[in-house]
Amino acid sequence: VLDTACFRRWLTETTRLVRRDSARLTELDAVIGDGDHGANLVRGFGAVGTAVAEARPATPGALLALAGTTLTNTVGGASGPLFGTALRRTGKVLGDRPAPTGIELAGALDVGLRSVQKLGGAEVGDATLVDALAPGVAALAEATGAGRPLREALDEACRAAREGAEATAGLQARKGRASYLGERSIGHQDAGAHSVALLMEALRTAVE
Ligand code: ADP
Ligand code: MG
Ligand code: MG
Repeated sequence: VLDTACFRRWLTETTRLVRRDSARLTELDAVIGDGDHGANLVRGFGAVGTAVAEARPATPGALLALAGTTLTNTVGGASGPLFGTALRRTGKVLGDRPAPTGIELAGALDVGLRSVQKLGGAEVGDATLVDALAPGVAALAEATGAGRPLREALDEACRAAREGAEATAGLQARKGRASYLGERSIGHQDAGAHSVALLMEALRTAVE
């Protein structure tokens, strides 16, 4: 069930995966950006852990809203406001439901995705985190909408996000720092898209 404890596990597991892959995230960002993506997310999700432990939000919606606001406020880079807005908007849509269904979560994440696109102006194919988030959310919506069990739906979402992240290597970056490189950004995977794949993976782990 997607209760508050599950969403708390999601954030804890995200923190663990971001720490585990911190060097990799930094390395990806160093090639076509400024090499701080790993540190940015480690700092951001560390602050989320502290904020959640102090405020102990009672609902999934309040938890995600707090996590989002904390990310926006503690990460200096572009990824902070982008991930922050996605989580905050997702939390707002969930409202005070004690445990949303998979379909409701997919719908809320879709609103989060749209808010990221509105904020950053990136479309699918611009080689940003949107290239992992959009297919991941679409796969989750499709599978939950078709009545598939949540675990299976999340397997699909993880696969779609992972494939989307890997496909950014073949694309020219059109938003964010990597876009300054023009065609030279082609051949390198986007760091933020890899992070989105980690977030999806953490959500799958959190759902038991
Ligand atoms: P910064 O680029 O400010 O140093 P980070 O390194 O933490 O911030 O995050 C970089 C990631 O943010 C990129 O890999 C990309 O996925 C994402 N990103 C940057 N700008 C945008 C944008 N306008 N829209 C969507 N995602 C973006
Ligand atoms: Mg960076
Ligand atoms: Mg930076």
